Amino acid sequence: MPNPTVTALFRPEILAMSAYHVADAENFIKLDAMENPYGWPADIQQAWLEHLKDCPMNRYPDPEAKSLAAALRSSNNIPEEYGLLLGNGSDEIIQILQMALSGDATVMAPEPGFVMYKQIALSLGLHYQGVPLQADGFDLDLPAMLAAIHSSQPSLIFLAYPNNPTGNLFDAQAIKEILAVAPGLVVVDEAYAPFADASFIGELPNYPNLLVMRTVSKLGLAGLRLGFLAGDNAILEQLHKVRLPYNINCLTQITANFALTHQDFLLEQTRSICQQRSEVLAELQTMADIKSYPSAANFILIKTLTRSADEVFVSLKKQGVLIKNLSPQGGVLHNCLRVTIGKQEENRAFLAALQNALRNPQ
Ligand SMILES: *Cc1c(COP(=O)(O)O)cnc(C)c1O
Repeated sequence: MPNPTVTALFRPEILAMSAYHVADAENFIKLDAMENPYGWPADIQQAWLEHLKDCPMNRYPDPEAKSLAAALRSSNNIPEEYGLLLGNGSDEIIQILQMALSGDATVMAPEPGFVMYKQIALSLGLHYQGVPLQADGFDLDLPAMLAAIHSSQPSLIFLAYPNNPTGNLFDAQAIKEILAVAPGLVVVDEAYAPFADASFIGELPNYPNLLVMRTVSKLGLAGLRLGFLAGDNAILEQLHKVRLPYNINCLTQITANFALTHQDFLLEQTRSICQQRSEVLAELQTMADIKSYPSAANFILIKTLTRSADEVFVSLKKQGVLIKNLSPQGGVLHNCLRVTIGKQEENRAFLAALQNALRNPQ
């Protein structure tokens, strides 16, 4: 029986939404969520535990996370003259940005893209417009973007660089053209910066409407929930009013600060992941039954050519390997799967399971 209070109280767009679903990964080789597969070296872990002892659990955390903010600025080359906003994951920053917009604002993003941009826009009752990427190679369709910007006048545009779930870097010149004509803010979402040799942080002086967002999640600290946004002070000042006062808890502040001051081991891990990415891609490219797309991130998008992606996904699960099935999203993602780069033995297990799935229909 539907609860009549629920239907009476909640906005229709909330009732129509489905919750963000996270697959249960227990006992699987987990290659579905773009996590860093490596743990911490024992000596680093010991030093970190020592550090945590100083965390005053009875006190509220520093509301501005000043010490952590300084560490983020220095490890990401964010000059002092730009504002910085920290979020409980970059997901929270995507929400803060949209909560600050006027109620009739339009939010725009290329598609396929990161689903939270749309999910949050819908949850807040904002207009959302997706603009298809080029079907061949997934670069921005610049004429389509410019036309959509012209007709919808979006207050906020999200461009993931590299893009999730396609893995490619959009053409930088096309992004600059979008920045030049956009009537509102443009967020370049650099969640995969640790794996990509490209960034728009250096463009901050050239575009007052540019905001660059990053996260420590894909670097190897997904459990902490920490993202950040850099840009013009006048813009960030407004966003800080929307942010809840203690959104970065003291365990996250201490741990992230510690990890950034010892970041060599994380950079070493991301180097291994990039090395593994080349090996996995080379192997995938020898398989005639799939098309694989080059990636500047820590995952690879593949398309099944002879079997349905649903079947391959189920077969991989039966073999103990969990990846992400994008096929239910439809459109250009029909028959697409996304695999996160893991440790060498995990990647080999995935490749073997994939060969098996393609060869032996269930
Ligand atoms: C994973 C991801 C995020 C979310 O990162 P969190 O900081 O963990 O919330 C943001 N944008 C893109 C494109 C992502 O893939």
